[in-house]
Amino acid sequence: MKKIQMTTPLVEMDGDEMTRILWQMIKDKLILPFVDLKTEYYDLGLLHRNETKDQVTIDSAHATRKYGVAVKCATITPNAQRMVEYPALTQMWKSPNGTIRSILDGTVFRAPITIDPVSPVVKTWKKPITIARHAYGDIYKAKEIETTEAGTAKLIFTGESGQETVLQCDQLNCGSIWQVSHNKEDSIRSFAKSCFQYAIDTKQDLWFSTKDTIAKIYDGAFKRIFEEEFVGYKAQFDALGLEYFYTLIDDAVARVIRSEGGYIWACKNYDGDVMSDMISTAFGSLAMMTSVLVSPDGTMEFEAAHGTVTRHYYKHLKGEQTSTNPVATIFAWSGALKRRGELDGLADLIAYGEALESACLETMENGTMTKDLVGLVEADFKATAVNSEEFLDAIASTLSAKLA
Ligand code: NAD
Repeated sequence: MKKIQMTTPLVEMDGDEMTRILWQMIKDKLILPFVDLKTEYYDLGLLHRNETKDQVTIDSAHATRKYGVAVKCATITPNAQRMVEYPALTQMWKSPNGTIRSILDGTVFRAPITIDPVSPVVKTWKKPITIARHAYGDIYKAKEIETTEAGTAKLIFTGESGQETVLQCDQLNCGSIWQVSHNKEDSIRSFAKSCFQYAIDTKQDLWFSTKDTIAKIYDGAFKRIFEEEFVGYKAQFDALGLEYFYTLIDDAVARVIRSEGGYIWACKNYDGDVMSDMISTAFGSLAMMTSVLVSPDGTMEFEAAHGTVTRHYYKHLKGEQTSTNPVATIFAWSGALKRRGELDGLADLIAYGEALESACLETMENGTMTKDLVGLVEADFKATAVNSEEFLDAIASTLSAKLA
């Protein structure tokens, strides 16, 4: 079979543990036999990040900027326990995702991969719901204090010019707790642009919700900035028949539960944190959730939403077979290859990405799946649990037949 040609390399970010094992298996069984794969390879495995003092993460993000598309394997974010597990570590290196996100200035979009035998818990949902979570500020950068006596709290902002703005917050006669949150105009604007661009790229409506009736200045700024940025995208929305609509978060929740799905729901940081777990669980499982970081300029980095599946890795090291679900990682590859195909005008690369995705879905819908999914299928559906390698082989044979 003649292999599909690529013209521009994809930025490939390798990772850790079980997902690193799956990464190579996916390439060997599902990609290299069909595509003359061109990648610029960056090893983001923990030990290589350590050897390069994390420069490799920074380099990979800059390469993504340059080429416009990356695919990333899950990586370990070291904590105290990992420092013991990997004695060679010289520092508790920062989360690679955080580093890449700050260089690409992007927003993370997460969407469930749905299959017929696994019904969403919410019966009206027919299509995936994509969550766009703003990933800067709010309570995640808040400062807090606890006070024990009666007194007054003031918020003082001192400008570079020396001018002070003072807000008398409240006077209380008991022990109390206080919190100050902030956000950046630039970051909200990038968030808005990424959301509008992604809605256009994926041809989906965009919903955005906050609580601006209560947080009139704070959430009011989010609402205003989205409205201002929408002006630049409105013509494209109209041409594609798409809708941008803003509503209060409580109204959004009620509408989401009664909807059919098939749209992007943009959320502030905390709302997105909570709602993405609700959406992924209600649709099925974290192992069936895609994740893509989108920059305001359309640069995209694709990955699985889950981590490195440590428990399975240790079983693998003992020589045991594991039934780790590779679907979200395969979809990261297919998403990245399709995007590369779109940017380079390569119709056969796009068609390959689509065939790979439908080969995964058909394999599962024919009853062959990893163990994590078997417990989620409808009672009358006959599913067989296979190990990761058998599952990838089954997808490969479906894919070969499709591409023959
Ligand atoms: P995890 O996603 O690896 O695992 C959470 C749970 O879900 C586990 O019970 C696991 O067995 C199950 N699970 C996840 N993916 C699965 C799959 N594909 N197939 C079958 N079961 C699956 O998260 P964790 O255990 O919290 O973290 C493990 C490591 O991953 C940590 O070092 C963390 O830093 C890293 N991590 C990386 C990313 C990323 O790179 N995007 C995201 C989250 C966690």
